[in-house]
Amino acid sequence: MSRIAYVNGRYVPHREATVSIDDRGYQFADGVYEVIAVTNGRLVDEGGHLDRLDRSLSELSIAWPMSRRAMQLVMREVIRRNGVTNGIIYLQLTRGVARRDHPFPVGVAPSLVMTARRAKPIPASNLTKGVGVVTFADQRWARCDIKSTSLLPNILGKQAARQAGAYEGWMVDNNGFVTEGTSTNAWIVTDKGELITRNVSHAILNGITRLAVIQLAGDNGLKLVERPFTVAEAKAAREAFTSSTTNPIQPVVAIDGAPVGDGKPGRIALELRRAYEAATAQGGVNG
Ligand code: PMP
Repeated sequence: MSRIAYVNGRYVPHREATVSIDDRGYQFADGVYEVIAVTNGRLVDEGGHLDRLDRSLSELSIAWPMSRRAMQLVMREVIRRNGVTNGIIYLQLTRGVARRDHPFPVGVAPSLVMTARRAKPIPASNLTKGVGVVTFADQRWARCDIKSTSLLPNILGKQAARQAGAYEGWMVDNNGFVTEGTSTNAWIVTDKGELITRNVSHAILNGITRLAVIQLAGDNGLKLVERPFTVAEAKAAREAFTSSTTNPIQPVVAIDGAPVGDGKPGRIALELRRAYEAATAQGGVNG
């Protein structure tokens, strides 16, 4: 089946889909995005993703290009036309097309692009063996809570991690505390069995999977503390893992080459992953 993209009101073959070179997304990264998983034909935590989209848009004073209900209908149509049962849908909204000039243009409609694709299989060894992360300075701006398409530090960080043979890079603030991964939230489990993830602020993206894990932790009687943790604390932790839409809970077994715990995927991480998979088969944890 050939891929179809939605671009500003039209469904077009993916390869022919284009936007204007004057689009402010292209010129300034003046836009936001969402990635929502499709599992067994259902959107996972759709409500949470659309709420976050609403927040990102309002923080940047970009209007919704259509009602939330209409957007949900287009999303379903994009998924249907691409024959995606298990995969993702990508939504990108920008401030629109205007002559290049820094101030916001007046009377310009926002641009909306949606694409969908089937899931890339996650290597089995990710779960049986776990993955490594490396740490480096967080070089991002002061509003990482906005899901902006401006991702330069994130892609540079991911590339550096991959070149170091690691799955992910964990970014570290000026005080030595881990903020998050380049495209994931960061978690540890302490010696006492407490689940730790950084509290929400302008320093991190409030992951929808992060929120789901918080919910599942509560449902499973785990003690959770939302607070910053240092790289040293993470290295000394019993377990570590990442969370994200595309790979919900990924055990981390090494940080900067040093083993975490016994160097094997942690029990709590694997349990949370199973619980997450059970919940997403029903459409997600937070609807
Ligand atoms: N942090 C960053 C910087 C991200 O890019 C992502 C993925 N978009 C996440 C965290 C995880 O968010 P989510 O669980 O909503 O995919």
